Amino acid sequence: MILNGEGSVSAHLAMAELEGLEFGKSDFVLLDEVTMEQFMENLKLRFQKGRIYTFIGEVVVSVNPYEQMDIYSKETIEAYRGRELYENPPHLFAVADAAYKAMKRRAKDTCIVISGESGAGKTEASKYIMQYIAAITNPSQRAEVESVKNMLLKSNCVLEAFGNAKTNRNDNSSRFGKYMDINFNFNGDPTGGHINNYLLEKSRVMKQQGGERNFHSFYQMLRGSSKDLLESLHLEKDAAVYTYTREGAASSTSSNDSSNHKAVLSALKVIGFTAEEINSIYKILGTILHLGNLEFESDGENVQVAGVELVNHIAALTRTKPDDISKTLLFRTVATGGGEVIAKGHSEQEASFGKDAFAKAMYERLFGWIVSRINSVIEVKNYNPMLHGKNTVIGVLDIYGFEIFDNNSFEQFCINYCNEKLQQLFVELILRQEQEEYKREGITWQHIEYFNNQIIVDLVEQPHKGIISILDEACLNVGKVTDIMCLESMDTKLGQHPHYTSRKLCPTDKSMEFHRDFRIRHYAGDVTYSVEGFLDKNKDPLFQDFKRLMYNSEDPVLKEMWPEGQLSITEVTKRPLTAAMLFKNSIIALVDKLACKEPYYVRCVKPNEVKSPMLFDDGRCQHQVAYLGLLENVRVRRAGFAYRQPYARFLQRYKMTCEYTWPNHLMATDREAVKAIIDHHGFQGDVAYGHTKLFVRTPRSLFTLEQERAALI
Ligand code: ADP
Ligand code: MG
Repeated sequence: MILNGEGSVSAHLAMAELEGLEFGKSDFVLLDEVTMEQFMENLKLRFQKGRIYTFIGEVVVSVNPYEQMDIYSKETIEAYRGRELYENPPHLFAVADAAYKAMKRRAKDTCIVISGESGAGKTEASKYIMQYIAAITNPSQRAEVESVKNMLLKSNCVLEAFGNAKTNRNDNSSRFGKYMDINFNFNGDPTGGHINNYLLEKSRVMKQQGGERNFHSFYQMLRGSSKDLLESLHLEKDAAVYTYTREGAASSTSSNDSSNHKAVLSALKVIGFTAEEINSIYKILGTILHLGNLEFESDGENVQVAGVELVNHIAALTRTKPDDISKTLLFRTVATGGGEVIAKGHSEQEASFGKDAFAKAMYERLFGWIVSRINSVIEVKNYNPMLHGKNTVIGVLDIYGFEIFDNNSFEQFCINYCNEKLQQLFVELILRQEQEEYKREGITWQHIEYFNNQIIVDLVEQPHKGIISILDEACLNVGKVTDIMCLESMDTKLGQHPHYTSRKLCPTDKSMEFHRDFRIRHYAGDVTYSVEGFLDKNKDPLFQDFKRLMYNSEDPVLKEMWPEGQLSITEVTKRPLTAAMLFKNSIIALVDKLACKEPYYVRCVKPNEVKSPMLFDDGRCQHQVAYLGLLENVRVRRAGFAYRQPYARFLQRYKMTCEYTWPNHLMATDREAVKAIIDHHGFQGDVAYGHTKLFVRTPRSLFTLEQERAALI
């Protein structure tokens, strides 16, 4: 790293900003006192001055500016490239660079966890981070690396089309959680990646709240496709014609569906989807829209599909037979006790429910298939560690934040559980490990009280006793056990739990509906969940017949999406895992993945509810600061030492800045040599000596050392 004159100036400015008052403190660690009042004052002042990023040590706190800022240019990228965290004002790029440097210099797997509520700016942040990484890698412009980078960036565009929707909170809201690993070779250039997706909100396929839209993909297809393509799909251009897209057809959006459609199409091609595959994708979208318009009629005895035309369209698009479609919509195959297989007719309601479940499942499988198709292209191939060195990874997590709505259902329950798990990881990694390391290293440490949310995690996920287990047990007997009975069982088993409030305990609390709700005291606040629909959403039933129908399709893409359809009715014995259990398993796997990486955090705050670049809603912001645990974060940082390095590494890096250590030292231990460097520079007051590592309290002393070093090399 070489600091040129300009670098020193910008560094100087950065330092001035650190201390300056005009823009507030650029690191919350430098607050005079760690109080909510001072924290909020600083956050607000900086937001109003257009400083949307602020550090807490290595954590970046970001406030959504709701307007395009001129802070992501090529020049800005250059200013952050390879620099130490404190040489520049706080920025996403600083964190991205820190994660990248740790990965490259120390061969550490790192991850960047981006959290915050819907609309706080997580997805935008993740894109800027990826753009930064793409910009600073592959200086020699090698074609295969460029192609990998291009595909990684293009995958965002595709995932957003199929996984994002306009909601009342965010015009481009991600309706799924995303974790993306980017792999690097020993040169520090991207060689590939892998995407994991979590809990797509598939109920949106059939139903949206007032003013919201279905997934962008439907509108993009309808508004952007050629007349010929729409005709071949038997579709009309007008989204209002289709039950599933009617609500969203009227609501305005700032995005341009038609031009986005072209961008998605080109991205799909760049990634390597074949024309046939792309065609299958649109056929599936078309099928879903037709399914939405299907209705059933009953003469009191027999149920029928109203109108054969739609059935014919669906059969044509899914490459199945119309008769098979009708049969699957109207009957289900069951095995009797005697081993006989019979077709049992649906009621009108069952048929309609089954159809919607099918449409939702189709979309979910389509999304899952697109992700795995992208993965098959971007995954690292032919990597030989003997030849290429260690393959390191930077993971980027962009996942739904804590949700408290007026009406909270199963989805919020899952999302909030996920946030408890991530908070747990945060507590574990940042707070606990920090304290434990000080203990281990024999550094005097003032104990910080923090809330450990393990108890809430247990309330939800503990085997046999937790809410998920109780739900699953009830799901074994859906039909016999109702939502209310399940709630009663939860009340009985968990009524005494300090973070669970049973309706029985507060029958006078008017804010809780007496018979249908339970409340969890989350780390981020109390949330009341309406239990209605919990069991159905958890069991997530889909008649086996649909799976068989799809497996027998002549469309290879569809067939690939439904592998379990090859089982015959008598072979299907194992119960599929429930939605909550699948989600729990995927989140546990995610946490395991994150836990073995060096974490970097971006904490996003949404300044107001009206998407305004001007407004800083004090109450709303303070609430977010509280539940993101930012104050505790500052306290731990301040109480402790922001930086630490094993003596040998510190010595290696800075020995040239001191005559007693350059080129070699004559002291008994590295620790003494490090002490000589520190004393030589007069930083005694800013450090502590652990058993194996040097601990540095503030960024200032390291910053000076870095500068001296750079001037010498
Ligand atoms: P989240 O993923 O947290 O739900 P998004 O990242 O989608 O939120 O951000 C919501 C909207 O806020 C974006 O569509 C954009 O209009 C605006 N926004 C977010 N971050 C920025 C930013 N850094 N600069 C400008 N606008 C932003
Ligand atoms: Mg998002």
